[in-house]
Amino acid sequence: MILFSSFSLRDELTQAISDLGFETPTPIQQKVIPTLLSDPKDIIGLAQTGTGKTAAFGLPLLHHVDIAQKHVQCLVLSPTRELCMQIQEELTKYGAYMRGLRITAVYGGVPIGGQIRELKTHPQVVVATPGRLIDLLERKAISLDNVKYVTLDEADEMLNMGFREDIDLILKNTPSRDYTWLFSATMSNEVRGIAKRFMKDWQEFSVAAANTTNENIDHQYYVAQHHNRFETLRRLLDFTPGIYGVIFTRTKQDAQEVSEKLMKMGYHVSPLHGDMDQKMRSKVMERFKSRQLQCIVATDVAARGIDVNDITHVINYELPDDPEVYTHRSGRTARAGKSGICMSIVSPKQISNIRQIERLVKQKFHKSDIPDGAEVVRKRLFFYMEQIATAQPRADFAKLYRDSMHEQFADVDKDELIRKLIWLQLRDTIDAYQDADDLNAGYEQKERGAGRGNRYSRIFINLGEKDGLNTQKLIQFITESVDIDSNVIERVTVRDLSSFFNVPGDAAEYIIEHLSSKKFKGRKVRLEEADQGRGPGGGGGGGYKGGGKSQSGGARYSGDVRAYGKREGHSGGGGGYKGKKKY
Ligand code: AMP
Repeated sequence: MILFSSFSLRDELTQAISDLGFETPTPIQQKVIPTLLSDPKDIIGLAQTGTGKTAAFGLPLLHHVDIAQKHVQCLVLSPTRELCMQIQEELTKYGAYMRGLRITAVYGGVPIGGQIRELKTHPQVVVATPGRLIDLLERKAISLDNVKYVTLDEADEMLNMGFREDIDLILKNTPSRDYTWLFSATMSNEVRGIAKRFMKDWQEFSVAAANTTNENIDHQYYVAQHHNRFETLRRLLDFTPGIYGVIFTRTKQDAQEVSEKLMKMGYHVSPLHGDMDQKMRSKVMERFKSRQLQCIVATDVAARGIDVNDITHVINYELPDDPEVYTHRSGRTARAGKSGICMSIVSPKQISNIRQIERLVKQKFHKSDIPDGAEVVRKRLFFYMEQIATAQPRADFAKLYRDSMHEQFADVDKDELIRKLIWLQLRDTIDAYQDADDLNAGYEQKERGAGRGNRYSRIFINLGEKDGLNTQKLIQFITESVDIDSNVIERVTVRDLSSFFNVPGDAAEYIIEHLSSKKFKGRKVRLEEADQGRGPGGGGGGGYKGGGKSQSGGARYSGDVRAYGKREGHSGGGGGYKGKKKY
């Protein structure tokens, strides 16, 4: 039996693993650790989560760290913030006895300032999500010049989430990289592609049980508050420029509305539902098959007629009630031996439904982060680069004007010309995503702490203590009446006949609209947005502005195109976002 003690790890590590109660190494650890300790060459480890892969690369990584050197030597890339935090925690446990060792995790969705400060404490190991790492590189808050070891964890997942270009960029910015360790649950051509581009004479290690169930579909879910669902859909579409997909809604009305909103924003989509006659539906299918449409927005019943093999993505705008229906939907992709991605947008309350479906399809879902503005812009930048590079103008195109073109650009440097071309394509997206919100539910709290308080709307409601309500009961009534999470509601003030509460600006209109149609103990509920500048203020909550229309949030949720300026091509970019990113 192999024991950890036979590995000749540094004593501090052996001590820490013993404290943790690890006795025997797991199969992937047995295979990988000896190689990485004695001859830390490039490797590919095929292993899933739960196989002990973090220790398989983490222990050798920490073994090789030179604590005396106060620069980043080891970089671990991970697809999501959650995994990033987990890896940091795990590595910190292993390194508990290594005095002077610093391990920093950097990931999106939290203010960047704290991470910049942490990086100034000179960590030797950095665990990062690709997007945030590039942000930090752009701000010169981190240097990868001395990184010798790079680990790509869950490489297949990073690729499925669309981070290929980001990974390439990061690896190109590690000039001292001697060792690249790639871990992945599955081996695809894309994973092999990274190895071919960035690794030398790599050795492969795999443990059984990888990839046992269905095979080709990657199930991802994105957690967003209900009122951010549409924004999330747009962002996923913008982040997936080559998408050829089906977006599923629960109702015909939703299919129609979502599709119309997207069309107005310039996306090439069409609805497909039972209220359309057969002729219309056939026409939509024709356009979809000939790729004039990038997506169709369909109900389950109507989608039965879709017989297309190359669908890259299925997006569940809403999860179906019946988990069986999920398998029908996701089965629209990954047909004929191809691979595909099924993305589901869920509210925090629906995470339990995901668990139920996981059991049915016998496959683990990946919780993915909704990309931020900078990630979307970067994604589209690479997309246009690729489009320009692979464009094949017809032979007779602009024959007549060739001389004029040449004359016009004779003095323009080639690089400058490329920049101009891409800038023209991208500037609307850049504008739209300038101030992009973090749409991932569960992270709003942290952002509030970062002083973004004025982005909240104060809402008046005509119910109070006389109606038998207190704070808790009011919150309960609201969350049971509309699909929002209780942590969205803040600063509740219950008075005799009325109450006030705060919600994020972009949720205000949604809440007002959906609650106003409800009744409480037979009384018709009335809501209005309160004006925060006037009125009782403090614990009170402001006079009425009247009209019940939200200002900041209203435009956003209703998808008012004017709020977002011009659109580029099919994308539409994001809109109504806040932040401060410069590109
Ligand atoms: P991972 O696959 O890296 O996510 O690891 C799964 C879990 O197994 C983590 O909680 C580790 O702390 C734990 N673990 C890793 N290696 C061992 C080991 N050799 N013996 C017992 N537990 C382990």
